[in-house]
Amino acid sequence: MNAGNLQIQLTYKSKIFDRVKKFNRKHKSLAFLGMAYAFAAITLYNMLFYFYRNSKRFICLLCILLFFVSSSSFSYPAMSLNISFATDVSIEGYSSDTEEALSSEEVAESDAELAVSQDVDTAIIEEAMESVNPDVAEAEHLDPEKQVSLSQILEATGGVAGVSEEQTDEPSAQGVTTFGSDDWKIILINKQHPIPDEYEFPLGTISGTMRCDERIIAPLLEMMRAANKDGVGLIICSPYRDRDRQTMLFENKVERYMSGGMNYMDAYNLASQAVTVPGSSEHQIGLAIDIITDGYSSLDEGFGNTAAGKWLAENSYKYGFILRYPAGKENITSIEYEPWHFRYVGVDAATVIHENGICLEEFWNTYVN
Ligand SMILES: [Zn+2]
Repeated sequence: MNAGNLQIQLTYKSKIFDRVKKFNRKHKSLAFLGMAYAFAAITLYNMLFYFYRNSKRFICLLCILLFFVSSSSFSYPAMSLNISFATDVSIEGYSSDTEEALSSEEVAESDAELAVSQDVDTAIIEEAMESVNPDVAEAEHLDPEKQVSLSQILEATGGVAGVSEEQTDEPSAQGVTTFGSDDWKIILINKQHPIPDEYEFPLGTISGTMRCDERIIAPLLEMMRAANKDGVGLIICSPYRDRDRQTMLFENKVERYMSGGMNYMDAYNLASQAVTVPGSSEHQIGLAIDIITDGYSSLDEGFGNTAAGKWLAENSYKYGFILRYPAGKENITSIEYEPWHFRYVGVDAATVIHENGICLEEFWNTYVN
């Protein structure tokens, strides 16, 4: 404390004491008030003077205290409160009614957005789950031009289609118990057994743009004629699909899932459930045929209950065709019941499969060398 400060302090104190002495002389009964005043004034003065002399020290302490409060975790709730308060301030200009209306609108909007985004997600997942049947997903848009009935085939070919009844698949007399694994008719194609790179087959035309392995056209038409005789009209749709189309279908599905917010791996996995992974579809080797009937053109389980579905399940084996994905074999085939999807395996194999109530995978385990 320098001399100047000391002088000021002494002068101030003596002024206070002088004032109190005068007051006490005038009002002796109120002397305690004078004493209290003197005490308070001097104490306050001393405190302020102390702070004034140590101002730098106290500013430093105050800064440290502020920094500590603002950086410590227990101050966060207070800070977030401040932020929300600031938001209120920003819409201060509105009347309270507008403000309420605005905020409720905002809430409604954000709810709607949430609802919409949830809808999109569940819709995609549901769709993916529903279309585990590869054919359903692949033939999503059944093109009427890509369907053909027996009468249309006969019209287009002048009635000579498939008339050459060369029965190559008559059950052999000695009773076949084993089959060679190199027989093209029984080739096993699924996710575990993709189409071999070197696989080749003669592509034949059923009618128009509808093609399949030409070796199965005759038995196919024979089966359709037999059904016709029994009063059952069969309509062929989407038989052979080339790899490009299969790849396109698959990639479309992946893109669709990704646009719904999925990453590539999830989208790929989901798409592989809905659409056959390129290279593992029997339609690509021309041995599979999807069949519908007049009055029932959707590829779903309901087809199994139609006259055509029942007739096929009963009789298709006689012409070398099997119901490739039967009900109850889903855990073996990895594909749900598809009453419309028929696969040519030849009469011998089809008969064994039909009579034993097995699927092609089981047939391979038991009867194929
Ligand atoms: Zn199919």
